[in-house]
Amino acid sequence: MYDVVIIGAGFAGLTAARTILKTASTARVLVLEAQSRLGGRCLTSRDFGGPVDIGCSWIHGYKEGSVVRQLTDELGVKCYVPNKGKGCVISGGKTLDADVAGKLSKNLSAALTAAASTSSPSPSSSLASSPERSRSEWAYNLEDVSLQWFGYEDSAKGTDAAIVGGYDKLVKKLADDVKTMGGEIQLGAKVESVKLGEKQGAPVEISIANANGKQTYSSRLVLSTIPLSLLQKSHAQLFSNMSARKAHAIDFTHVGKLGKLVVSYDEAWWPSDIGAFTILPIEPTSSNGDVPTDDLEQLLKTVPLVVSSFAIKSAPADVQPAPATHPTLLIYLPVPVVQHLEGRSATEIGQAMHAYLSTSLPSAKPCPSSPKHSVLTNWAYDPYSLGATSTPLTVESVSKGITPASFIELGRPETLGAADGKPRVLFAGEHTSVNNRGSVTGAVESGLREGRRAVQLLNL
Ligand SMILES: Cc1cc2nc3c(=O)[nH]c(=O)nc-3n(C[C@H](O)[C@H](O)[C@H](O)COP(=O)(O)OP(=O)(O)OC[C@H]3O[C@@H](n4cnc5c(N)ncnc54)[C@H](O)[C@@H]3O)c2cc1C
Repeated sequence: MYDVVIIGAGFAGLTAARTILKTASTARVLVLEAQSRLGGRCLTSRDFGGPVDIGCSWIHGYKEGSVVRQLTDELGVKCYVPNKGKGCVISGGKTLDADVAGKLSKNLSAALTAAASTSSPSPSSSLASSPERSRSEWAYNLEDVSLQWFGYEDSAKGTDAAIVGGYDKLVKKLADDVKTMGGEIQLGAKVESVKLGEKQGAPVEISIANANGKQTYSSRLVLSTIPLSLLQKSHAQLFSNMSARKAHAIDFTHVGKLGKLVVSYDEAWWPSDIGAFTILPIEPTSSNGDVPTDDLEQLLKTVPLVVSSFAIKSAPADVQPAPATHPTLLIYLPVPVVQHLEGRSATEIGQAMHAYLSTSLPSAKPCPSSPKHSVLTNWAYDPYSLGATSTPLTVESVSKGITPASFIELGRPETLGAADGKPRVLFAGEHTSVNNRGSVTGAVESGLREGRRAVQLLNL
């Protein structure tokens, strides 16, 4: 029998396992991971001239006390604050004058502050009715986000840092540390149900499916880090006797969509001193139905796009080994685009993106007719996340009674109906962090919180 069985080997699950084992070296801890790899929404591609993070990329608030930095420091994982190079804002195929672009950015920041401090907006007001409307759209549509709670979080802000060699280096170090301390990690083990043993005081039974068929484990406590979208789809099958309050918070808290497209070339045809291009939309939004959603290139023209270049030397000279520069572009794909990508290949999407970029970005050399290689992550269709992350509260969520306190509810333990009223299942994951939902910071913070809770509850 285990003391704690943890579901999921992403940042929340691995941090929780490490936290328990650091305090209680003899604790029996098992991490069950459905996929054949570690990391969850942390995924690093090595298909290019250097590692490219196609899940999370940045450690937010690196110099401002981020809990992720505490981990990288403790585990000896090298990080650096990149030189992001010159920015370039493009509107209608023309590069905006640096002064105009600077003013635009300053005014938008002021608009964002104004949106967050709008007094008593009605629950039905969305960001679309605020000055924030003109900011770029990410994992959520501005039309959907409630103005009532926008900006309430005290989230990790400030300096963004990257991990030398890719974000998955931190995942690997964490997992190695867990194993060194005696924890077990089983890959390819999908948890199908968690229920209370039949006899009074019996341990929790965890049923899994793996390559060998079905298996059941017993544990004093279970810690779930299953992403919110997956809980929405199957919490009733996964957990018996879940409280109505938790089920409501799960069902009505919004999960966003976001994708990353990476295109590479033989050589950089864009100016290699520019770190990021922001392309402003040149067509009205597709939501009024004017733009055919099957015309990808046309659809791309309706959204703001951020394009990062790997051709720029981004690491300071003292970072060794120096991250390689390579002729690769990474494009963040926002909701209006990712929701129309199902069934399309990375090559097809890469070609449409290339056609648009070739007429939008300034060129330093002749532009080839197509990219050499394209890789896509579309987290909305990933069976192990079914979405990017939880988002700011939406108008629809708020209309169902969801508030910032719902993130606390999402992280509250459940008893599974145990007669002694004691917790049997704990919940961690980015979606259970009140202040840092949607980030690695939130996932790590939740793993620390629930790891400590497990130690305390089990008197380890
Ligand atoms: C495109 C993108 C870009 C991002 N960029 C950043 C960024 O720059 N900075 C930042 O801080 N954050 C970023 N994030 C957010 C960050 O990646 C996530 O918040 C964080 O990785 C979530 O960690 P987690 O442990 O909560 O969940 P996950 O990483 O999703 O881990 C959950 C694990 O549970 C497993 N699992 C699910 N169901 C089962 C089951 N039934 N049985 C067993 N295992 C199961 C999954 O396979 C997965 O491995 C980004 C996210 C995306 C999608």
